[in-house]
Amino acid sequence: SSSGAPIPVPDGSHPQDQLVRRLTVLSGPSGVGKSTVVAEIRRAHPQVWLSVSVTTRPPRPGETHGVQYYFVDDAGFDRLVAEGELLEWAEFAGNRYGTPRRPVIDRLERGEAVLLEIDLQGARQVRQSMPEALLVFLAPPSWEELVRRLVGRGTEPPEVIERRLEAARTELAAEKEFDVTLTNKAVGDVCRELVTLMSVE
Ligand code: 5GP
Repeated sequence: SSSGAPIPVPDGSHPQDQLVRRLTVLSGPSGVGKSTVVAEIRRAHPQVWLSVSVTTRPPRPGETHGVQYYFVDDAGFDRLVAEGELLEWAEFAGNRYGTPRRPVIDRLERGEAVLLEIDLQGARQVRQSMPEALLVFLAPPSWEELVRRLVGRGTEPPEVIERRLEAARTELAAEKEFDVTLTNKAVGDVCRELVTLMSVE
């Protein structure tokens, strides 16, 4: 079944709870540097398991199927939704993105740390379905810096950038829904702070 077994939630009453890793969600506006943080986590903190999402977005240069994303077509995504295989999913700037359920649940059941890098809509779904998750908001040093990064990436056409800026305005306003805010001034610092929050070092 797609619903799976209940997820054990540490309540702090057992000694081993200190070692029980948790589900951590990293979210924040497009362009804030989430994928840079994720790349740095992969490089510098390989002990952290990162969920690989499914998306209908075409790969960018340098992206590999199964590493940054599983790239699927619309029919493939529809099938995953219909079969209940996604823990959460959302449409973002014209494409769909979702978290495969089973690998996440398997790891949580083994007491291992799980990190999801997803958009705000997805973070809200996780808040609903797994209230024990730690929601971390990645904030830009300033709005100007966020615009600079979104425009400067140079990988998207202007209408896509405009859609992403629109989403970013909404997403910045959601900061108060999160448990913790990390400001992305230096990627190494953010990663260390994030890993400390996950208590896996
Ligand atoms: P990008 O196209 O730049 O890789 O990602 C666009 C947005 O989709 C980012 O905000 C990213 O965090 C989000 N995203 C990536 N994977 C998922 C997912 O599995 N679920 C949800 N809800 N959002 C995702």
